[in-house]
Amino acid sequence: LKVFVDMDGVIASFLDAASIAHNRPLPYDNPANYGVWDTEKLWGITPAEFWAPCNSEEFWLDIPKTSEADGIVEMLSRDFGADNLAILTAPNQAPGCVNAKRKWIQKYYPALAGRMIFTAAKGLVAGPGKLLIDDKDSNCEEFRAAGGFAILVPRLWNSRHATASNVLDELKSGLEMLS
Ligand SMILES: [Mg+2]
Repeated sequence: LKVFVDMDGVIASFLDAASIAHNRPLPYDNPANYGVWDTEKLWGITPAEFWAPCNSEEFWLDIPKTSEADGIVEMLSRDFGADNLAILTAPNQAPGCVNAKRKWIQKYYPALAGRMIFTAAKGLVAGPGKLLIDDKDSNCEEFRAAGGFAILVPRLWNSRHATASNVLDELKSGLEMLS
């Protein structure tokens, strides 16, 4: 399989950075908010207000790794070979976002630095023999609809929120089910 790995919400802790930029706690301590993708709705702000503090190269550069990031990249590299991995990430419209995402991967995962695809249209990359690792339900659904495989990384903001504390085990069993 050729494997496409999402950044934000999978290896990059985008929402933690957004929470700091907005000086608001993440709304996912409240079980009523589990599975709600649109954090701005839970904060009661518009999408434009949500993205405003994220519109700089510095914001994207300073995003921390998720606690599972190294484990995810190691597991996928071991199971599929680094030559079969690519980063598949949807940059926002901020000037510098793509640059910053390149620098971020160079810093943390230099082996993947030359293997980055930037698009929000993830389904267009899908097809038989392709596997998406992503935290957004609709991306996974699109990928499967186009004949690919997808594993939704469990997070509190998606439909697999019940297992969000167990990302690496869930990914491992998802991979086992594919083979
Ligand atoms: Mg994502």
